[in-house]
Amino acid sequence: MKPAPFQLHIPSTLEEAVGLLSQHGEEAKVLAGGQSLVPLMALRLARYEHLVDVNRIAALQGIAREGGWLTIGAMTRQTTAEAHRDVALVPLLHQALPLIGHFQIRNRGTVGGSTAHADPASELPAVALALDAEMVIHGPAGGRVVPAREFFVSTWTTGLKPDEILTAVRYPVWPGHCGFALEEFARRSGDFAIAGVACGLEVDQDGDVARAAIAYFGMAPTAVRASAAEAALVGSPARGADLAEIARLAASNTDPGDDIHGSAGFRRRVAAHLTERALERALRESIHA
Ligand SMILES: Cc1cc2nc3c(=O)[nH]c(=O)nc-3n(C[C@H](O)[C@H](O)[C@H](O)COP(=O)(O)OP(=O)(O)OC[C@H]3O[C@@H](n4cnc5c(N)ncnc54)[C@H](O)[C@@H]3O)c2cc1C
Repeated sequence: MKPAPFQLHIPSTLEEAVGLLSQHGEEAKVLAGGQSLVPLMALRLARYEHLVDVNRIAALQGIAREGGWLTIGAMTRQTTAEAHRDVALVPLLHQALPLIGHFQIRNRGTVGGSTAHADPASELPAVALALDAEMVIHGPAGGRVVPAREFFVSTWTTGLKPDEILTAVRYPVWPGHCGFALEEFARRSGDFAIAGVACGLEVDQDGDVARAAIAYFGMAPTAVRASAAEAALVGSPARGADLAEIARLAASNTDPGDDIHGSAGFRRRVAAHLTERALERALRESIHA
């Protein structure tokens, strides 16, 4: 199928793009890499009268280190980020990027597009949530910064207003003795994950867990943190932690759906195994960091 007719706008500045979004309201949508929006429109699952193509806006490009943060411009292609030296400073992002679809998709798909699309089965929203990343947003009233915990609302729904553009994602670079692991289960390489988890752990000088982050994708209507399991880990000796029990607790506090790929119970069992494996990897790395 082909999309319903629409008018394509190609602004060259952020102000121009925001102006177009304000002018056309709910009838308009930002077009980034098109890897999610175009299939949705072609299948007539979504219909917009106006597409605002932001590919030529230079202010949305680039990767920069600023203090303890790595800032990635929203229009940075996923393959560009994947190949960038500084992205290794954020190991969860580094591990997640190659798992998004196929090379051809990542060659067009953008970091901001995947984040703004907020598919519950996507890797990047879970990474942003796990790391407490910040969303840099621009709209008619100027700029604002929204923490990841407030940004992801539900399936394909974020805190972005119709006339706002996500301009960058700011990922904190964790200092100290840290380890990170992302694990996912998909039927075939390149498919969306049936269940996945992103874990980060920091161990202090005494060998206790100082910080824990466990975020799921494919396990709820949006990416979710396993807060109770994180709290159970923090303060306990890293080497003595019962990771299988922590993983079971984490996976039990999710809200996955039933579909042709698996029941909710199946997803929880898979998620518990993935979590245990990810925590083991993250812990090993943090102890040796
Ligand atoms: C076969 C296939 C397999 C895939 N597998 C995976 C996978 O395993 N994991 C995964 O995460 N994704 C997967 N994807 C989706 C892919 O990663 C997309 O690249 C990504 O979801 C959207 O990025 P995009 O730049 O193409 O955004 P677009 O498709 O252009 O836009 C997506 C949505 O985000 C909005 N948007 C985009 N950029 C901005 C911005 N800067 N500000 C405000 N709103 C914005 C758009 O308006 C639209 O609603 C797959 C896609 C395909 C076709």
